[in-house]
Amino acid sequence: MRHITKEMLTDRSTPVSFCFSMTCGECGKEWNSTPVGFSKAGIEPETEGKRVIFEVLYQREKETAFERAVEEASNAFNLCPVCKRPVCDYCFMICEDLDLCVDCSTKLQERGEPVMQYA
Ligand SMILES: [Zn+2]
Ligand SMILES: [Zn+2]
Repeated sequence: MRHITKEMLTDRSTPVSFCFSMTCGECGKEWNSTPVGFSKAGIEPETEGKRVIFEVLYQREKETAFERAVEEASNAFNLCPVCKRPVCDYCFMICEDLDLCVDCSTKLQERGEPVMQYA
């Protein structure tokens, strides 16, 4: 079950690029979305009007990048149905009856295999 919401992501955007990060609730590993460059990065607005337009463009492109980052995060993270924490594939267990994070699977004594295993 993958239900990643915008609230789980941290905004790491800069004036020139959009990037969002998320942390695994179990191992604390930080994940970053693929950075997307602002189309007007490095361009000085020539007029006050252009400055306003660039600002609106920035917000719009950021919104699009945010949507994409949420989708990307949904592929990189799993939401534990018991503790509701987003965890990475290394910390999420495919179990017999219910897929759980590694912590919950230990507590509830539910056997399983992690989605991804460290080589
Ligand atoms: Zn993890
Ligand atoms: Zn859990």
